[in-house]
Amino acid sequence: MLLQMLLQGILERLEAGEIVIGDGGFVFALEKRGYVKAGPWTPEATVEYPEAVRQLHREFLRAGSTVMQTFTFYASDDKLKNRGNIAGQKFSGQSVNEAACDIAREVANEGDALVAGGVSQTPAYLSCKSQSEVKEIFRKQLEVFVKKDVDFMIAEYYEHVEEAVWAVEVLKESGKPVAATLCIGPEGDLKGVSPGDCAIRLTKAGAQIVGVNCHFDYATSLKTMKLMKEGLDAAKLKAHLMVQPVAFHTPDCNSQGFIDLPEFPFALEPRISTRWDMHKFAREAYNLGIRYIGGCCGFEPYHIRAVAEELSAERGFLPQASEKHDSWGTGLSMHTKPWVRARARRDYWENLVPASGLPYSPSLSKPDSWKVTRGDKDLMQQTDATTEQQQKELFEKQKAKALLSA
Ligand SMILES: [Zn+2]
Repeated sequence: MLLQMLLQGILERLEAGEIVIGDGGFVFALEKRGYVKAGPWTPEATVEYPEAVRQLHREFLRAGSTVMQTFTFYASDDKLKNRGNIAGQKFSGQSVNEAACDIAREVANEGDALVAGGVSQTPAYLSCKSQSEVKEIFRKQLEVFVKKDVDFMIAEYYEHVEEAVWAVEVLKESGKPVAATLCIGPEGDLKGVSPGDCAIRLTKAGAQIVGVNCHFDYATSLKTMKLMKEGLDAAKLKAHLMVQPVAFHTPDCNSQGFIDLPEFPFALEPRISTRWDMHKFAREAYNLGIRYIGGCCGFEPYHIRAVAEELSAERGFLPQASEKHDSWGTGLSMHTKPWVRARARRDYWENLVPASGLPYSPSLSKPDSWKVTRGDKDLMQQTDATTEQQQKELFEKQKAKALLSA
């Protein structure tokens, strides 16, 4: 039985009804640990600090992840060199991606996990480069994943379904299974293509697993997933469903998701989901028929452990990290203080409405809503550092917008 599981690829597992648990947001987690720079968000840590990347993979594996996603987010050469990012001068996309594959495989082999190679949206697409130019960027990344023989590919974090379709078309050339997730909400992609139509286009392009990742909280992401599922059903198309939301609450977001919130990215902590939120997420995703359930930005290993614990009856086992976490807080029965021991029960944590502890903090924000998208001059790929003059113009624009909305 175990040997059989070890030999199975992503599609065999999903077709057998297995629940596949993804991992969390490596850029956000490693930024907080001091190994990724916020701004460029590029993953050169695979070469600079491989032990930090390896440790995070191990923590997710221990928490119950069945997929080790290579830490290759934004590792295209155009992104490594964008706006004065020196990572592109020191390292090639190829070396960063190769190291990421080796680390992911090493840790995956320590458990029953698969390795997924990832490609994401490119500055080249936002700068209106041609289809063949954008595809060439994906193809160059794919060469490494093929050479390193990852188990399957994920095209993730696309705001425009058109670019995601191009990515899927390239990834299909490898012959490996392809998953594709967009960072969109219920309003659809940034051109207004509905989630249902997005799912149809991705499936028709050849993706066997479709869904959403990043930008929105689990509640919003599951609304989007429902629309994707309805679209696929209406078109009589079949695809496995996948969801990897952010671990921040985003009920006040517009179509741009959490990057449009004034708190992004350095003051999002009050919005963090608890482990108990993740129990709800896992259950609701499962009930919707989603069998690939993971996380993106803000997801730490303990969030994934909560997903694995919620679905432990269906999966037939608990994750290794539950060794240090009795389900539903029951380990608190060992606490010294009696009033804390009284919290060692499911209904306490399940029904708790946590206070934020921030007496002057509003519960919701107003997104920036600049509505800058593909083709805008401020989004163009630029190898040189952003100039002081360019920054000054943006500061002025922001102040003017703040005055307008006051
Ligand atoms: Zn994310």
